[in-house]
Amino acid sequence: MIWQPLLDRALNLFLKPNCPMCDRTAQAVFCKYCQRQIQDCQLLQPDRYWQGDLPLFAWGKYEGSIKQSIGKLKYDGNRSIGNLYGEWLATSWQKSKPSGLTTKLIVVPIPLYSDKLISRGFNQAELIARGFCQVTGARLDLSLQRNRSTVAQFGLSKSARQENVTGAFTLVNSRLKAGDTVLLIDDIYTTGATVRSAAAVIRSIGVNVCGVAVIATGRDR
Ligand SMILES: [Zn+2]
Repeated sequence: MIWQPLLDRALNLFLKPNCPMCDRTAQAVFCKYCQRQIQDCQLLQPDRYWQGDLPLFAWGKYEGSIKQSIGKLKYDGNRSIGNLYGEWLATSWQKSKPSGLTTKLIVVPIPLYSDKLISRGFNQAELIARGFCQVTGARLDLSLQRNRSTVAQFGLSKSARQENVTGAFTLVNSRLKAGDTVLLIDDIYTTGATVRSAAAVIRSIGVNVCGVAVIATGRDR
């Protein structure tokens, strides 16, 4: 007679983990039902905010199932969600890529402060960036580092938000050089203060930061 736990473990090797949202049988990462719910939050025009000093490319709206799934990624540590979102973002980027970007892109994820990185064990923006680079062939650069923790931006005035993130980033042993073109990647875009601070540090060495690409934005205009 075969020992049951061993048999279960052997079977599990061939079975995919269940959907992290509802525990039903999953397709790739999510089940068909949850994937449809998430894709319903997708922006029809991901480049609709691609304008201004730091243009924004957003896969979806920060609401409903997207919000819930980003929580599963960040707080339940479901890394496969990050990779899948990176692939979806890349597919959307390839389809609706803003015009005028002819040079080869270098992708820089917004880093986490080391305390948070240690407690979480991974940076969700880096997972998304890796998925994005796998699909697009863009180069990943991890030289942007976060010097200190910033308090949550929510509820702060505009000037307090900017002060909160000023000096938050540095480049460490960077291969980035003047004339390179960088696309920043993060999971969520809210006020933009964090990404603007990161962009300023990279631009200070003559690198062109063309914009930021995120999974979801809370902007609604
Ligand atoms: Zn599901």
